[in-house]
Amino acid sequence: MTPANELIRLVRELRGRVEIRSEEEWFVGSAQLPASPPAGAPRTSGAPAALSAASELKKLAKAVEACRACPLGTQRLHPAFGVGSPDAKVMFIGEGPGFEEDRQGEPFVGKAGQLLDKILASIGLSRKTVYIANIVKCHPMVDPADPERRGNDRPPTPAEMEACRGFLDQQIRLIRPKWIVALGGVAAKTLIGTETGITRLRGKWHTYEPLDIPLLPTYHPAALLRNPDWKRDVWTDMKNLKNALERDDEANA
Ligand code: URA
Repeated sequence: MTPANELIRLVRELRGRVEIRSEEEWFVGSAQLPASPPAGAPRTSGAPAALSAASELKKLAKAVEACRACPLGTQRLHPAFGVGSPDAKVMFIGEGPGFEEDRQGEPFVGKAGQLLDKILASIGLSRKTVYIANIVKCHPMVDPADPERRGNDRPPTPAEMEACRGFLDQQIRLIRPKWIVALGGVAAKTLIGTETGITRLRGKWHTYEPLDIPLLPTYHPAALLRNPDWKRDVWTDMKNLKNALERDDEANA
């Protein structure tokens, strides 16, 4: 870590953690949701594979920590590598870390992440039973000289996504989820390899071609905070995913 980044880290730590409470309720109908067991619970038959996936993921996380393939590697505080079960059946993939993720080194821990937790819970999943990652691992900032400013986030550039792509592909290969959910247009377009917008992509199954994994794009939780009307569509998408999980559970019973 450069002296400048170390100083930023110390200043941030001294300021303490800012508690963010979401005023958003996830989905009005969620009180009536089925209380089924976590569909993404670890598969016992995959235990040895999961063990080696876990150790390989740790090695990969170290490689991300050392990565300086793009400028984000020197600007961020902590990479947000990924969180969840190495044996997850479902992988949720977002765009890139924001302010809070940069502080905590974990994807989706800010306001959008709190909403994502509610979305997962509504279909019996949690950040422990799925795996959550991003297209880029380091925080893209509008003004890297002002990392303390909220609202300093920006989407990753094509070059940054390209530089980070190998890490994500390797994560997917190690976890081998049965389904991928792409959160938002950036993740969906990148993973499907299309220029089509999220409004047209969402709600239909596509494919993560390198491993032939079914991929469902849906709106990004941050977009739902801005457009609560879109929650209905995400709820439809989550029911779609839950059906796939239940069919799989039945087939393996
Ligand atoms: N938005 C994302 O796409 N990823 C995160 O980790 C946080 C917010």
